[in-house]
Amino acid sequence: MILEFFKLNKTCKHEHVKPDADFSYCPDCGELIENQWYIARCACCGVKLKANVNKNGEVISQEEFCHNCGSRGYVIQRLEKLNFIDIRYAVLVKAIITKEMMDFTQSWVENSDRFYRYKLLK
Ligand SMILES: [Zn+2]
Ligand SMILES: [Zn+2]
Repeated sequence: MILEFFKLNKTCKHEHVKPDADFSYCPDCGELIENQWYIARCACCGVKLKANVNKNGEVISQEEFCHNCGSRGYVIQRLEKLNFIDIRYAVLVKAIITKEMMDFTQSWVENSDRFYRYKLLK
């Protein structure tokens, strides 16, 4: 029974966590979940690009290149609050919040998607 629960816990997608609260406990696995919204922006001209999450849980740009200037570089930006105008660009990440992450500085570094990779995977 305990093993089963552990396995379930490992693969929980937190599907029953509602996206409208900043923090809530997942009813399936009991982890504290933070709803994090991200958008992608062109690194060159700064226009918004549609963000997506890949198989590794990394936030990436869904566009292959910028529709405005053609640049392939992009940065990932975390939104404090999801604005209506950002809905079509934003992707929701249901991140498990641990005690260590609560202590982790919330400041984010522009032009560094490695920072997000680190934060999302740990
Ligand atoms: Zn869960
Ligand atoms: Zn651009």
